[in-house]
Amino acid sequence: MIKSRVDLTAIQLEALKKLVDGRVSTNDSVLDQHGKDESAIPPVKPSAVVTVHDAQEISNVLKYCNQEGIPVVAFGAGSSLEGHVLPLFGGISLDVTEMNKIIEIRPDDLLVRVQPGVHRVELNEKLSAHGLFFSVDPGANATLGGMAATGAAGTTTVRYGSMRENVLALTAVLADGTIIKTGRETRKLSAGYDLTRLLVGSEGTLAIITELTLRVYGIPEKMAAAIVRFPNLADGVNAATAIVRSGIAIARCEFLDEKCIKNVNAHDGLNLQEKPTLFFEFHGSPQGVQEDAQSVKDIVGEFNGSDFEWTADESARRKLWQARHNAYWAGIAANPGMRAVSTDAAVPLSKLSTAVTCADQILSKSKFSYSILGHVADANFHCFILTDPNNPSELPEIRKLTHEITQQIIEMGGTCTGEHGIGSGKIEALIEETGAPAVEIMRQIKKTLDPNNILNPGKVLKI
Ligand SMILES: Cc1cc2nc3c(=O)[nH]c(=O)nc-3n(C[C@H](O)[C@H](O)[C@H](O)COP(=O)(O)OP(=O)(O)OC[C@H]3O[C@@H](n4cnc5c(N)ncnc54)[C@H](O)[C@@H]3O)c2cc1C
Repeated sequence: MIKSRVDLTAIQLEALKKLVDGRVSTNDSVLDQHGKDESAIPPVKPSAVVTVHDAQEISNVLKYCNQEGIPVVAFGAGSSLEGHVLPLFGGISLDVTEMNKIIEIRPDDLLVRVQPGVHRVELNEKLSAHGLFFSVDPGANATLGGMAATGAAGTTTVRYGSMRENVLALTAVLADGTIIKTGRETRKLSAGYDLTRLLVGSEGTLAIITELTLRVYGIPEKMAAAIVRFPNLADGVNAATAIVRSGIAIARCEFLDEKCIKNVNAHDGLNLQEKPTLFFEFHGSPQGVQEDAQSVKDIVGEFNGSDFEWTADESARRKLWQARHNAYWAGIAANPGMRAVSTDAAVPLSKLSTAVTCADQILSKSKFSYSILGHVADANFHCFILTDPNNPSELPEIRKLTHEITQQIIEMGGTCTGEHGIGSGKIEALIEETGAPAVEIMRQIKKTLDPNNILNPGKVLKI
C-alpha cells in the first residue's frame, strides 16, 4: 500500500524502458511539465515520465508497477483544475498523448472511435468534414481521455449532455494489467452494471482509458448567438432559469459578470458593455432559431434584461463564443503572474440565484479579487479567485472561503463539483456531500479494482 513518495530505482527505470521501447524520461523539464495542472496547487514532480503507444504497453507497464508498488498517474493535456495530475506520491506520470488516432468516424451510426490522447478541437476539425461535431467543450483543448476521466462538461451540456451522456463504450486497463471493454456502440444499453459510467469521472483512480466510442451530432442547419445585459447578478441568473423552465431548446446559455466582460473585452478586442451578461446560442432551422431568439428576448425583458442583440452571422457568433471560451485566460492575462482557484458548484435550478448571491457575498467580504461566470442553464457556476503563487499562505485562506461556500451549496442540495471533479482538493467535501456510507462503497470499489492503490493515489478518496 502506497503511503509515502516513491522514487524509481535505476533497475526499475531500466525495466520500464524495456516495456516501452525506451520511452521513459527523467529529464527535468519533462518532469516539470508533468508535475503541474491548471490549478493553483503547487507542482509535484513525478519520478519519471513513461510515454505509451497502445493498450498492451499500458497493460505491461501497469502489471509491473502493481508488482513493484509504483504509483501511476495518467496524463492527458494537464488542463484539469483540482490537482488531478499531480503525482502526490511520486512514481510515474503515464503520458497517453501519443495515443492520438481517430480510429474511425461512422456518420451513419453518429459515432466516432478515438484513442485517449486525441484533443477535442482536432476531433471537431476532422468531424466537420463529415457534417458532424462532438459537443462537449471544456474551455481548454483537453484530451478525450482526460475529459472522460474527469466527467467533463461545457457550454453545450444543457442541450447535448456531458461526457457521462456521450461516452458509449470504453476500453480500459485495470491496475493488474487486465484489459476490459465496457458499453456497446448502441444508443441504449441495459446489460448489467454500468461500468462505462463508473469509469467516466473516476479521475484515473480505477483504470487507464485506452479507447473511447463517442456519440456525435449533425452540425445544425442554422446557429445564432445572442447577448443581453442585466443590472445585477440575480436578475441575469433568474432570467436564465426562467428560460430553461420555459422549455426553449437553447444550445448554450452562459453568464459572465461585469469583471469577466471587462477581461474578455481586453483579451479578445471586444467592446461589450461591462455589465452582468448572458450569452446564448440557438441551433435549428433558420425559422426555428429566429423564433427561439424572440422567445428568449421576451423572457429576459421580464427580468430587466436590456439591449438584447442577436446575430446569425457565423463569424460574429464564433467571435463571441471564442471570447467566452477564453474567459479564464482573459482573467489571468488581466492579472499577470497570478493564478486562479476555480470553484465549481452546481445546485438545483430553483436555488441558483441564492447560491450565486451567497458565493458573491462570502467572497466580497474577503481581500481576494474574483469574478463569477457559469453554465447557468445547468445551474453550475464558477468563482475564479485570484491568488499570488509567490504568497503560498493565500491558498489555505482561499480554501477556507471555498469551503464556506461549499457548505452552503451542500445545504441547498447542491454539489461541490458539477464538472471539474474531486482531485486532491475536494476529498472532504465529497464525504460531506455524499455521506460516509456511500463514500465507503466507493472505497470498496477502489480496493477491488486497485488493491495496491497504485492508480492516482491521493485523489478522490483517502485510502
Ligand atoms: C481555461 C479552462 C477552462 C475549463 N473549462 C472547463 C469546462 O467548461 N468544463 C469542464 O468540465 N472542465 C473544464 N476545465 C477543466 C479541464 O479542461 C477538464 O477537467 C478536462 O476534462 C481535463 O482534460 P485533460 O486532457 O487536460 O486531462 P488531465 O488534466 O491530463 O487529466 C485529468 C485527470 O484525468 C486522468 N486521465 C487523463 N487521461 C486519462 C486516461 N486516458 N485514462 C484514465 N485517466 C486519465 C488524469 O490522471 C487526471 O486525474 C477547464 C480548464 C481550463 C484550464
